[in-house]
Amino acid sequence: MSEVRVVLLGPPGAGKGTQAKSLVASLGVPHISSGDLLREAVTGLTELGLEARSYMDVGDLVPDELVLGMIEKRIGGTDCAPGFLLDGFPRTQAQAAALGDMLNARGGPLEHVVALAVNRTEVVERLAGRRSCPDCGRLYHVRFEAPQNEGRCDGCGTELVVRDDDREETVRQRVAVYENRTAPLIEFYRQEGILHEVNGSGSPADVRGRILEAVGGQA
Ligand code: AMP
Repeated sequence: MSEVRVVLLGPPGAGKGTQAKSLVASLGVPHISSGDLLREAVTGLTELGLEARSYMDVGDLVPDELVLGMIEKRIGGTDCAPGFLLDGFPRTQAQAAALGDMLNARGGPLEHVVALAVNRTEVVERLAGRRSCPDCGRLYHVRFEAPQNEGRCDGCGTELVVRDDDREETVRQRVAVYENRTAPLIEFYRQEGILHEVNGSGSPADVRGRILEAVGGQA
């Protein structure tokens, strides 16, 4: 494929991170997760991280102005010349508008927005079993994608954790925030004519196949 600029949309637990990590090899573009970038900033105790943390811990959105600067810098990186796969950004109307402006200025518009649709029961089940490696960021699921050695990362052997924002109270807030602030972007991108609604239920391999079919990539 030549250039490809894709956004993955969907509620927390829809499988965006899992899919993004497996899709980038096929698409030949970097995976940009705003959540991962923010978590790196939190761990690195940067100014951005210190400001972002209080919002993330309670499942609220980090203010647009903080996130926009971070994303603009990231998509300006040379590795993004062939495009990118954005995961978790944009999440508000203002972010979607700002992304449009950034891309207009660079001369390459967004080609595809993939909205992963998953029912609420499945979302809760996925989030409740999610574990992550605090060192390399790899994600697991106690039922659907268990590590080879229980509780340890296959890649680096670090003990897996439940992310602070995967705790039940926070999850409920994140789902509410998604419904109020992010779900309206589905309609926005439908009107732009670049929306693909993809069924996010089933095995990661099945979902991956549906996404690649939607964006016209190779499996
Ligand atoms: P995620 O891993 O994408 O679910 O993001 C984890 C948390 O980071 C979210 O609950 C928000 O607090 C924050 N976050 C990630 N992306 C954004 C964004 N585009 N705008 C605002 N906050 C974000």
